[in-house]
Amino acid sequence: MDTTPVGRFAPTPSGRMHLGNVFSFLIAWLSAKSRNGAILLRMEDLDTQRTSEEFAQILREDLLWLGLTWDDEQLPQSRRSPVYDRYFEKLMDEKLLYPCFCTRSQLHSVNAPHLSDGTYVYPGTCQNLVQRPNKPHSWRVTVPDRDWTFTDLLQGPYTQNLSTDCGDFVVRRADGVYVYQLAVTVDDGEGGVTEVVRGVDLLSSAPRQMYLQELLGFSQPTYGHVPLLLAPDGRRLSKRDKDLDLGELRKYLTPAQLIGSLAHTAGLLDRCVPISARELAGEFSWEKLKKEDIYLNAQELVR
Ligand code: GLU
Repeated sequence: MDTTPVGRFAPTPSGRMHLGNVFSFLIAWLSAKSRNGAILLRMEDLDTQRTSEEFAQILREDLLWLGLTWDDEQLPQSRRSPVYDRYFEKLMDEKLLYPCFCTRSQLHSVNAPHLSDGTYVYPGTCQNLVQRPNKPHSWRVTVPDRDWTFTDLLQGPYTQNLSTDCGDFVVRRADGVYVYQLAVTVDDGEGGVTEVVRGVDLLSSAPRQMYLQELLGFSQPTYGHVPLLLAPDGRRLSKRDKDLDLGELRKYLTPAQLIGSLAHTAGLLDRCVPISARELAGEFSWEKLKKEDIYLNAQELVR
């Protein structure tokens, strides 16, 4: 890793950040900044029903409160369709796409979720349709029968065969909206992102993104998938856990207290002491970071 790292924050502005989001942004920031790298910010607002500029603004403000600065901000995904169109056309020209008329319920009735993110293996139903109905349809990209392997900074070696583990996947929905896998590949690629740090729930997405990177001519970033934060009962924290969102936590904690306890729980600090993100950058190494899920007790945090 001799080039200057470029990391990114890719939040979905659909609510206030919860601690799991804060944790992955903190690690992304530390990893880049401990090596004098840069951070890009990008609002992943493809789902315009659930996201808003108002949430995006609160997110920026919360990140700044935490001391998690960024060097540049990309246009939000909802405004980048013309860019995605160009890459979509490229896949189309290479005859890698086909229309899919399957409904969600048809897909779910023949299949069980396969990947940890709930992905179903697509059986290729619409691949060789002789007659195409005149109905709205999504577009799928054909995947080769080949293993994709990479070494995650935290999770170690990971392998997936897209054909048996996922199948041909959707890149554009029937309503014309591009899906996360395509948008994220294009945005990371065009942004020159060299290091993708995010929650381990997205580990199984990486091979789809690696495949698209290869097709669209982008280089492959390094991946670091960090543990999820769980409530003491093992439940994954989500935006519904209002008691652990930043709006609440900011009432009780300073940024240094919050960062100190997250860093301690994650294995980055021996003692639980207040520390700024900037100071912590000097202490950061991927080797120290725990790889297992992290159980968090909200009561202990705000005590
Ligand atoms: N926007 C996604 C989220 O908020 C993150 C996607 C990514 O980091 O690739 O969970």
